Amino acid sequence: MSSELHKNLISVDTFRSLIDICGEENCAFKKEDLVCYGYDATKKHFMPDAVVFPKNSFDVASVMRLANEKKFFVIPRGAGSGMTGGSLPVCGGVVMALTRLNRIINIDTDNFTAEVEPGVVTGALHETVEKQGLFYPPDPASSAFSTIGGNVAECSGGPRAVKYGVTRDYILGLEVVLPDGNIIHTGVKTAKGVVGYDLTRLIVGSEGTLGVVTRIIVKLLPLPAAQKTIMVIFNTMEKAAQTVSAIIKSGIIPRKIEYMDNAAINCAANFINTDLDTKAGALLLIEVDGSEYETEQQIKQLNKLCLQTGAKEIKNAATKAEEADLWKARNSISPALFKYGSFKINEDIVVPRSKIPDMVSRIEALKKETNLMIITFGHAGDGNIHIDIMLDKNNEKEIKKGKKAVEAIFDYALELGGTISGEHGIGITKSAYMPKEIKEVELNLMKKIKNIFDPKGILNPGKIFI
Ligand SMILES: Cc1cc2nc3c(=O)[nH]c(=O)nc-3n(C[C@H](O)[C@H](O)[C@H](O)COP(=O)(O)OP(=O)(O)OC[C@H]3O[C@@H](n4cnc5c(N)ncnc54)[C@H](O)[C@@H]3O)c2cc1C
Repeated sequence: MSSELHKNLISVDTFRSLIDICGEENCAFKKEDLVCYGYDATKKHFMPDAVVFPKNSFDVASVMRLANEKKFFVIPRGAGSGMTGGSLPVCGGVVMALTRLNRIINIDTDNFTAEVEPGVVTGALHETVEKQGLFYPPDPASSAFSTIGGNVAECSGGPRAVKYGVTRDYILGLEVVLPDGNIIHTGVKTAKGVVGYDLTRLIVGSEGTLGVVTRIIVKLLPLPAAQKTIMVIFNTMEKAAQTVSAIIKSGIIPRKIEYMDNAAINCAANFINTDLDTKAGALLLIEVDGSEYETEQQIKQLNKLCLQTGAKEIKNAATKAEEADLWKARNSISPALFKYGSFKINEDIVVPRSKIPDMVSRIEALKKETNLMIITFGHAGDGNIHIDIMLDKNNEKEIKKGKKAVEAIFDYALELGGTISGEHGIGITKSAYMPKEIKEVELNLMKKIKNIFDPKGILNPGKIFI
């Protein structure tokens, strides 16, 4: 369906119907109210025709039924923190902001589950369950503002994924409004369940293209009693990468192993007040959890192992404040990056953990070959490397060179048995690269699935597939 066709079909009558369904206070039609719903973290912008803020699944279903009847596009949106343009209204249409569906409906402390609405901010869920001694492990770095619905749609990961896995590992069941307005329930509330195809797993990571998630049953764990952090500094990136493999081989599974290369260290050092060693080739931030005794033992072992693998210096956080101080550098990278360029290409490839040294050497070589500002950091523990190429938005030649470097990085990640996206999804920014990883027959199967769910192509058009 073209945007032309769509533009002809959003009529004043349709706007009135949206008000009837959601209430005037839950609809926006004025340009000044719409502008900010056309952005996400890609900084690209597309203007929606309207924004609706449904209050419950029935509003969502009614809007979808109307969209079906009048044939207009609906684009689900959480906090708009996506990195690949998933929530952008690329063909115009009605942005459906799920932020007012924001209740934690219940926390079942006997069965370790919680039932939540999609607009709940991830960090709020963390805090609420932790007060009851429970733990929701997925922790995207955007937890302070991203929504659980967005996390489900992107299958978000986070630093703790190395030990605990990603969002899909904690989703037991979903309530989903299909593009035709039907409401379905997938999965179970129990620890096990194998009846029929696993629609829950199909919806998780489908980037809002198959249905609108309106309720989520998450699995919880007991909250670990203690956690401890160390920062390990290395002269070279290769030594840091080899240390990650050595840690995992040793049998210790830290809950986080994050790394920063020299460019990322300098980037943070120039942005925040810190005593980071700007000459270091790389650093690792390692966090372990468990009982007080377990964490102490693990930290002792890690100190010994890192010295054996060539660490230059190890900083052990003795207090919560020191721990927060060590993490400050890692958390400042994203905002700090824009000091180095006005245009960012942001990728999040994954390679098998054992191949991190190969991938890192290739990126180092690419930096020298291209003379581009390439910064790498990320979730070393699960092989998920964030690669940011900082460019001048007015320099087309440089941007072209940056895009070529991205292709080289994708090709090498795939050669090493990896994938082109670990957690940010495909959206619009990576759709052109899908055929590099997914074969034609598999892509066609995915397109057929999309067509079964959404035969009129009204839900989140222009995403994932080109
Ligand atoms: C500073 C920063 C750090 C980040 N760190 C991480 C990280 O560590 N790990 C990680 O995985 N990601 C990270 N991200 C990316 C982003 O935060 C995640 O993708 C997050 O899950 C998006 O949530 P959101 O609520 O902002 O969703 P949005 O950006 O609003 O939407 C994302 C996608 O989900 C769909 N969607 C949203 N809600 C629903 C719903 N209820 N039903 C169906 N579809 C829906 C949208 O259509 C869109 O396709 C980071 C982003 C930023 C800006």
